[in-house]
Amino acid sequence: MEDTILVVNCGSSSLKLALFDGQHRRKASGIAEGLLGDESFAQINGKDEKIELAPGASHAEALEALVSAFRRLGLMPSDPFAIGHRVVHGGEAFHKATLIDDSALSSIEACAGLAPLHNPINLSGINASRELFPAVPQIAVFDTAFHQTLPQKAYLYALPGAWYRDWNVRRYGFHGTSHYFMVMEAARLLSRTPATTSIISAHLGNGCSIAAIRDGISVDTSMGLTPLEGLVMGTRSGDVDPGIFDFLSTQGVSADEVHNALNHQSGLLGISGQTNDMRSLCELADHGHKPSALAIDIFCFRLAKYVGAMMASLSRLDALVFTGGIGENSARVRQKTIEHLHLMGFELNTGFNELDGQHMNGHIESTGSRFPILVIPTDEELVIAREASRLADTPETA
Ligand code: AMP
Repeated sequence: MEDTILVVNCGSSSLKLALFDGQHRRKASGIAEGLLGDESFAQINGKDEKIELAPGASHAEALEALVSAFRRLGLMPSDPFAIGHRVVHGGEAFHKATLIDDSALSSIEACAGLAPLHNPINLSGINASRELFPAVPQIAVFDTAFHQTLPQKAYLYALPGAWYRDWNVRRYGFHGTSHYFMVMEAARLLSRTPATTSIISAHLGNGCSIAAIRDGISVDTSMGLTPLEGLVMGTRSGDVDPGIFDFLSTQGVSADEVHNALNHQSGLLGISGQTNDMRSLCELADHGHKPSALAIDIFCFRLAKYVGAMMASLSRLDALVFTGGIGENSARVRQKTIEHLHLMGFELNTGFNELDGQHMNGHIESTGSRFPILVIPTDEELVIAREASRLADTPETA
């Protein structure tokens, strides 16, 4: 029997599955969208195989439907060897991936207060998967775990101490799986070991965060207690003055409404008034839509400021790394960002930059650049699969 590994990633209305073989090569993927709504649908390997889902289908029903499709197509002839689950928030309880037993499950439940939008959904995926595969080891891989090495000066807010002591209010950071993969891949491209590699890693997708990684270890990052802090994102504002809550309350806007707007109606969408999608923004800007051009400018300026901020944690920089849908594909965003970093010695080779890092082993810097600049495709599912198979082989708990 081949040791397949299944990776489960539950979002608020979506479920993504990835199936890897024993050598950690991707064999198939499946996605269900519009879950709990009127128009749910699922498919395997892009558009190859469509799967019927009842309206209002739950994450558990979608998991069952996708798994039976994998079986029907001969992609998963027997139970997987291990199942890895993406879990958004591990609080301070998890500084690495963990085998899911009853005690791990209650710790994940205990973290739900910190991520009420994410952890309960992640837990529904775990529970459904445990029911479907009771004999298979299930492993949780946390978005926050890689950042548990942040020093106190980076993770504590300048707030009343009791807020941290009583309610765990601190910076946690997210996208840890992707930032971890960046330092592993950057080390490989630079012919170094991860433990001697220091990078600034910019994960720019619909959510965006940046991390300072010193000798393989995360020492600062832009997201905080929640994924709202830091960079400008698709629909999230990133940093704002918290005084905005009080000011807007005098205008009759409730804290709930502000919170909702900061998460869902801000960022690129808020500034452009049109879209949260960088590709569409670039097209709009090319056709003279000024708010879209401004959204791109603000996005890149904030990012450049944060690259500067991340330098404060490092004594050496081996590379600045771009990843995520925008970081991997938008030459314009990379160029505009690097233009702000001239004084720090970052210089692009515009020709390599336009090639989207497909050549030159990911390098897009000019020969005169003080630091290498890399474009590296992220693969969070691969990291989860590797962790799942490692822990299923040698079980350990966090
Ligand atoms: P992710 O969340 O990592 O899938 O990234 C999604 C973001 O990447 C969206 O804003 C997309 O518009 C953006 N993106 C994907 N491909 C491109 C591209 N070729 N040019 C610019 N942005 C892109």
